[in-house]
Amino acid sequence: MEDGGARGGGGSTQTQSVMSDLMISVSGVRGIVGRSLTPSLLSRLGEAFGTYLNSGTVVVGRDTRVSGDMVKHSVFGGLLSTGCRILDVGIVATPTATMMIEHLKADGGIVISASHNPIEWNALKFFRSDGIYLNAEEGRDLLNTYYNGDFIRCPWDRLRGVEIVSDAEAHHVSHILAVLDVQLVRSRRFRVALDCCNGAGVGVAMLLLRELGCEILPIHCKPDGRFPHTPEPTFVNLQDLCRHARETGADVGFAMDPDADRLAIVSESGSFLGEELTLAMVARYVLSRAGGGGARVVINMSTSRATEDTAREAGAEVYRVPVGEVHVAEAMKESGALIGGEGNGGVIYPKVHYGRDAMVGIGLVLEMAARDGRPVSQIAAELPKYHMIKTKEECPPALGRRAVRELAREAKGAVKVDTSDGLRIDWDDRWVHLRASNTEPVLRIIAEAKTEQDAARLVGTYSARIRRMIQ
Ligand code: MG
Repeated sequence: MEDGGARGGGGSTQTQSVMSDLMISVSGVRGIVGRSLTPSLLSRLGEAFGTYLNSGTVVVGRDTRVSGDMVKHSVFGGLLSTGCRILDVGIVATPTATMMIEHLKADGGIVISASHNPIEWNALKFFRSDGIYLNAEEGRDLLNTYYNGDFIRCPWDRLRGVEIVSDAEAHHVSHILAVLDVQLVRSRRFRVALDCCNGAGVGVAMLLLRELGCEILPIHCKPDGRFPHTPEPTFVNLQDLCRHARETGADVGFAMDPDADRLAIVSESGSFLGEELTLAMVARYVLSRAGGGGARVVINMSTSRATEDTAREAGAEVYRVPVGEVHVAEAMKESGALIGGEGNGGVIYPKVHYGRDAMVGIGLVLEMAARDGRPVSQIAAELPKYHMIKTKEECPPALGRRAVRELAREAKGAVKVDTSDGLRIDWDDRWVHLRASNTEPVLRIIAEAKTEQDAARLVGTYSARIRRMIQ
């Protein structure tokens, strides 16, 4: 391992690498194990969150990463020192853990997971009592506490302990079953190929599928945290599942990222539907069941227009909000949205809870397929066709923000120009979204059009403009 074995007190090269791989932001803390993500840092974050919650009750869950125990026990020390009571829900999917925050009436929660990032990373995500991520303001309050270092320090007789909670997955599944026509799904006896990337979704996904009467055809479902492929649930990373679904004659295939908040679908013929289609497909189904008219759907700026078109066709109002799950969740709660989420396979269904959840997606897709009766590929073929291309350009944050302002002024012939989250320009049949990353010195460029060539042209044009501006 090339980065392994770094020891404290190293020279300037090591200090630089430690600086560059640690990201502390309002949306959480992420770093590389063995380098920046040290026990002392993690313990201090525990002290900060415990102080922020005023020594309250905290739900803690983690994904299957090998580093999970080290991270968890480091955080526990900090939390306990501030007088917190810890409810340890163990190795569970992120949506499983966040649902338990509300259920157990905790004051907040920490999920230890670097989501779809490679195995050497780990991260802390902070949640409030309603199971939703801290928003920017709350995140800033927590960071202020962290940097001030004025932590609550409890004497021995005010310390509390760690309680193990072992029924989190059962609780999660019961809430999903409660909103589904379980008998209908069971009657179809679906054969389901499942790729959990050896992540935290294995237990809950298996439990859900068994309850829904499915025959499970697992691949990469050993929850040991040793990822068999790059964890992001995208086309290139899911070739094993596509082949597996085809070879086993599955009715459908599901893949999730290691913390199971993103879902990708593979059809009965083993073709990858594209993670952008997950939300479009689920939203179309949910809206059709609800009658659609007057319903509200909330998606982020980078979500495919396939979801927007589908929702409008059903008579729903569509709201776009800045990228970040908390923005979507808060807007959904405020507007009373029926369904929403993020295009990258993140379905949020408030009847279950306000968080992206691969299990909710699986349940709704199976119910849809059971009710429809046709193969999944045929149902998917009815959805609007778009091609999305994502890229990024190296760009210092200040320059990125200036570039976005300049490009906003010169957007010609556009139907809509939105600057609430970087710059999004919509034309009749295509759009581009540019936003400076909060965590890296890059400008992300996402474009979508009816054809791949048009999307590529759009990305190419804006990439070239940014490169010229930087020079
Ligand atoms: Mg994730």
